[in-house]
Amino acid sequence: MTDTAAPTFDGRALINGERMAARDGQTFDCLSPVDGRLLTQVARCGQADIDAAVAAARAAFEDRRWAGKAPAQRKRVMIRFAELIQANGDLLALTEALDMGKPVKYAKGVDVNSAANCIRWYGEAVDKVYDEIAPTPDTALALITREPVGVVGVIVPWNYPMIMAAWKIAPALAAGNSVVLKPSEKSPLTALKLAKLALEAGIPPGVFNVVPGFGPEAGSPLALHMDVDCIAFTGSTRVGKQIHVMAGQSNLKRAWTELGGKSPNIVFADCPDLDKAVEAAVGSIFFNQGESCNAPSRLFVEASIKDAFLEKALKLVPQYQPANPLDKNTVMGAIVDETQLATVLRYIESGKSEGAKLLAGGERVAPVAGGCYVQPTIFDGVTNSMTIAREEIFGPVLSVLSFTDAADVVKQANSNIYGLQAAVWTRDINKAHGVARALRAGTVHVNSYDEDDITVPFGGFKQSGVGRDKSLHAFDKYTETKTTWIRI
Ligand code: NAD
Repeated sequence: MTDTAAPTFDGRALINGERMAARDGQTFDCLSPVDGRLLTQVARCGQADIDAAVAAARAAFEDRRWAGKAPAQRKRVMIRFAELIQANGDLLALTEALDMGKPVKYAKGVDVNSAANCIRWYGEAVDKVYDEIAPTPDTALALITREPVGVVGVIVPWNYPMIMAAWKIAPALAAGNSVVLKPSEKSPLTALKLAKLALEAGIPPGVFNVVPGFGPEAGSPLALHMDVDCIAFTGSTRVGKQIHVMAGQSNLKRAWTELGGKSPNIVFADCPDLDKAVEAAVGSIFFNQGESCNAPSRLFVEASIKDAFLEKALKLVPQYQPANPLDKNTVMGAIVDETQLATVLRYIESGKSEGAKLLAGGERVAPVAGGCYVQPTIFDGVTNSMTIAREEIFGPVLSVLSFTDAADVVKQANSNIYGLQAAVWTRDINKAHGVARALRAGTVHVNSYDEDDITVPFGGFKQSGVGRDKSLHAFDKYTETKTTWIRI
């Protein structure tokens, strides 16, 4: 068992390099879903705090204390930042497990490592990106250069607090911007620690500010702020739509949104390795307690192999029974809070009442008293019109549907407002390619599910959002393109 003596947390905001309480002194309780304990009180930032953080970010941008450094200098600081994240990995992982409920082994092995890797990668990349000269007539030269967009507001959700922040702050900072980050009120602690480590690494005060608080009180003032040049948001489609409206009705700031998903995972009867497909289907929906935007929550299995597939899947379910997230062997932890747990249980009830067949799970459990836990749950006999096939549950609930041929499954898979991720399992290269092309999703896997690498773009079609995180493409979000004509 990891050291359960909770470390002490500092829940104050970090503005202009200084820890500070909210200007009106308001705080909120940060409770752990592991066992309901109070972790700390966190600054409940509002308009005045957002104004102060944006002013600090603007001042830092204008005097070029960061943007004015050579890319190779920013690179060195970013790499140092990544090293400090890694060096503080145990503390960050324990904090994430306590704050958000994920198993500490994944908090360390996935979240800490991915966040550090992302920050290192953008640091390494920034002095290797060249600008362009346009092929104009030789009487004039047209330089096409990229400049930081300025002050970037970042709003992130609670499910991967460090990774979601890193995907945005890493390219934004590497490109020379100043950042104001609002973490989720449900898991604010690691973002505050990251900002301290950034300062320690040498990112100047004012360049990276963190303002914890609630969406309408802290997030909206940031998205509406007239002195914020870009807002980068990850969260629900409902709030993402409001972010685009706020960007438009304020100063037409650039708005980038990574939103919800209801990803189809399609298994044909000629799947090359049924065991591997079963493991991926079960492991990926239950990973992070199902609280992943790209969770394969709709499983389409060709009718002729569905019974065999489900028999194998049910044998794996006991491995995913929730347990204490602080135990190093735990693979499924706690749901982030009572509100989200109630949402998951409501969806389970809707599955039952709309006629789906409950094959596994479905109940709240209490491996740790006072915590928020639910069993891994599988519904068979789901049809596309049911609520559990249409809406994002954001919990460990798998909806199993069946199909007869490729045209049928593509139609079903695409009949959803989301388009984040998808997978197709078949040994037929033509079918794999045809279905992958026809699926309306930002990422499609063939014969796997969770391939992941910082080098590839991540984002959605349709109502899964606008823009892409990760890869060199992300620099486009945080830079403006300038053309400079030079008469020669
Ligand atoms: P959410 O939309 O409720 O909240 C996300 C963030 O927005 C939080 O920081 C919240 O405080 C803030 N917010 C809420 N209301 C706001 C408002 N009116 N103005 C400004 N900010 C506001 O989402 P959540 O419950 O935190 O996260 C779950 C959602 O995030 C799921 O839909 C999931 O699919 C999505 N998500 C998407 C990706 C992706 O990359 N596509 C990754 C992770 C999570």
